Amino acid sequence: MKRPYNFSAGPSMLPEPVLETIQAELMDYRGLGCSVMELNHRSDAFEEILHGLEARIRRLLKVPEDYAVLFCPGGGRMQFSMVPLNLLGAGVSASYVVTGTWSKGAANEAARFARVHVAYHGNGTKLPDEEMLDIPEDASYVYYCDNETVHGIEFPEPPAAMVGIPVACDMSSNFMSRPFDVSRYGLVWAGTQKNFGIAGLAVVIVRRDLLGLASPEVPTMLNYDTYVRTGNLPNTPPVTQIYVANLMAQWIEKEGGLDVMNTRAIERSSMVYDALDACPHMYATKVDPKARSRMNVTFRLRDEMLTDVFVKEAAEAGFINLAGHRTVGGIRASLYNAMPIEGAAGLSSFIRTFALRHA
Ligand SMILES: *Cc1c(COP(=O)(O)O)cnc(C)c1O
Repeated sequence: MKRPYNFSAGPSMLPEPVLETIQAELMDYRGLGCSVMELNHRSDAFEEILHGLEARIRRLLKVPEDYAVLFCPGGGRMQFSMVPLNLLGAGVSASYVVTGTWSKGAANEAARFARVHVAYHGNGTKLPDEEMLDIPEDASYVYYCDNETVHGIEFPEPPAAMVGIPVACDMSSNFMSRPFDVSRYGLVWAGTQKNFGIAGLAVVIVRRDLLGLASPEVPTMLNYDTYVRTGNLPNTPPVTQIYVANLMAQWIEKEGGLDVMNTRAIERSSMVYDALDACPHMYATKVDPKARSRMNVTFRLRDEMLTDVFVKEAAEAGFINLAGHRTVGGIRASLYNAMPIEGAAGLSSFIRTFALRHA
């Protein structure tokens, strides 16, 4: 069976070998007579999955010893609350770099607990210049989103102006797609349903000296310490999500690691951007070329009437889920780890032929 190429922004495509392993292990996980979903979470078999996932994340990202790796339920948005509840400490303010939908959502949620200082407020098409960021010294931390999934803008690397106070970063849609220097951050978090598995789980990497700052009123399950103290088993964890993330980590290692993921991400996105740039009469790209995301390519049809036609004809040609986010419209092609180069190549020729056919 040939499956279509799935450009969904999340939940998103998984590599076929990962799906095949899930299928093969569903009725009987390694001779235990049941699936991982039916297994006690304190069994040796599950603990091996949990520890295997942590060890692989540490290896792939070279996570320094003074950082804890946590697995929190509640997906991405739960971290909008957990980050301020845990990192504010005795401070009352936090600084947010707002580059698009997701950093704005995080700033709004933080405003329920903290005085939020907005260090930059963009319109989703470009990133701040270093000198545009003014970060107050009394902020407990500065927060930004590395890749804005809705608008398709991505930081090439974290702005240097942020160092000095702990940097908290939402990497939900580009985590595990390239190496990065963990030691530049106080905290990095990522929901897993983009490059690293399925929805409902967040991986949190946090410097240990930032633990223990939460006030006593913070609910137990929203306190990072709870996950550290219990070895990521404060209750029954999201076992399926952890199992699939571990399969993703194994797949990434087998494919050659994060440098390979990055090379492929650049190759895939360049092919699609090149096709768009070659047909400017048909397509408009709003994002500043310096901020173009390797993960989410966003564009519009100059003739808005053709947007639905594009989505429909693409699906018929085997390229599915290309409609842009409901809040911004247009087209969005998400090109995460699982997307084969052939999928991006196929989409870029579709983009070119569509422009010829509808010229
Ligand atoms: C998807 C996404 C989120 C939200 O994740 P949920 O699991 O739906 O809460 C947050 N930030 C970014 C950058 C995302 O791409």
